[in-house]
Amino acid sequence: MHSLTVSKVTLTYPDGADRITALDSVDLWVGGGEIAAITGPSGSGKSSLLAVVSTLIRPDSGSIRLDTASGTADLVGLSRGEAARLRREQIGIVFQQSNLVPALTALEQLEAMAHLGQHLIIPPSIRRETRSRARDLLASVGLSGQEHKRPAQLSGGQRQRVNIARALMNDPALLVIDEPTSALDQDRGAAIIDLILDVVHTHDTATLLVTHDRSHLHQMDAVYRMVDGVLTIDESVNLAA
Ligand code: ADP
Ligand code: MG
Repeated sequence: MHSLTVSKVTLTYPDGADRITALDSVDLWVGGGEIAAITGPSGSGKSSLLAVVSTLIRPDSGSIRLDTASGTADLVGLSRGEAARLRREQIGIVFQQSNLVPALTALEQLEAMAHLGQHLIIPPSIRRETRSRARDLLASVGLSGQEHKRPAQLSGGQRQRVNIARALMNDPALLVIDEPTSALDQDRGAAIIDLILDVVHTHDTATLLVTHDRSHLHQMDAVYRMVDGVLTIDESVNLAA
């Protein structure tokens, strides 16, 4: 059973001669198959929290623990190399801006993800397996028939679907998603949220979802609000469960 435990995490950035506090003693827990949503005003620290739990930024203090089938990882104490490996194997990251590679087709974006960090010579049997998994994932996000299109040939919603499928390619224990609907209209945004709910439940992924759209919050397992780096539970939302 996967889970993410964040305890008393504080992060500051240099700001001239001073420092600004982006995260102020943040506590959070999310279990496998669950989504914790995070809302809050711009500049309040939401993306910083995702960067810290994704091991992309090391906090000043506090602890972050990821429990997976293969054991418990302390996400704060890792070396750079260990962090890169953990991200590859256990963490799916969907950034705000679609960061797909322009020259690659949808299928190739997913395949490249799977082959990262592997040996240069990949046996044909592994290649076939990877291709079949990538096709299945693209189908599960509603992109059957679009596998051979490059990002420029896809709509914003379709690109976001490729991003999500790619983040799932290595079957991560932790999925971290930053404002996936910000560039989409209401209907396409709702479809992306439904897709995320579905994949999170199917893959038993512990998920942190930053969103500005309150209309989806009742579907989440927990809702937090970030203000000036302080994270609190948002009690105003009636949750489904
Ligand atoms: P949000 O995602 O909620 O908009 P961020 O986490 O991006 O908030 O930013 C939180 C605060 O940290 C803001 O004041 C922002 O200006 C500052 N900040 C974010 N990234 C950096 C950085 N790399 N260096 C310095 N300050 C930063
Ligand atoms: Mg942000």
